[in-house]
Amino acid sequence: MPTVHARSFATQRLRAGQSIKVIQSSGGQVVDFWAFSLPSTTSFPRYMSMTHTRSTLHKLLPSLQESFLDNRRDPILTIVEDTSPGIHDVLFAACSPERYLQLGASAGHDNCASNLFEAVKKIEDPSFLYLLEFMQHGWMPDPLNLFMNVAVDKNKLTCLNPESKAGDFITLMAEQDCLVAMSACPMDVSACNEGEPTSVEFQVL
Ligand SMILES: [Zn+2]
Repeated sequence: MPTVHARSFATQRLRAGQSIKVIQSSGGQVVDFWAFSLPSTTSFPRYMSMTHTRSTLHKLLPSLQESFLDNRRDPILTIVEDTSPGIHDVLFAACSPERYLQLGASAGHDNCASNLFEAVKKIEDPSFLYLLEFMQHGWMPDPLNLFMNVAVDKNKLTCLNPESKAGDFITLMAEQDCLVAMSACPMDVSACNEGEPTSVEFQVL
């Protein structure tokens, strides 16, 4: 089974109707997850948007059989199965070099933002290379943070360790041709990944 190694990244092309199953190898590992539509033009990217999903569904997270939306409010990925406790974050930005410096880590710490950039640089399908034009100027959509446990209490957000266990998985079905990118979050200086970051596996169905 393909693996997103600890602190690293992977991409996967999905045709509409295909699903991707993201599996917790040892539990407690956050996966930053993005989806980009197959472009019909080289205009601004269509991408899975947490903001558009929240403000259309009027809730934080889609329920089972509901979809995440793209930035034109069209369905892009539907949650078809989730054996985890169903706790996923849609509010936190990807961890980035600046965030680790703010937290006192040394420069050069692995991070999800750089992982996405490196992942896009390695895409073999030329249809998606145009994303680099935007990303090299710092553009990056908010990720869907799979298995990330953020408690929302009025105006306070508290990042806790995941409740997911080894073998838990979520399956997302593509509603349109798209590319998904995953980063096994390397956060190890605050609560997030239940200690040392670990690998996750995935499967295309
Ligand atoms: Zn991260």
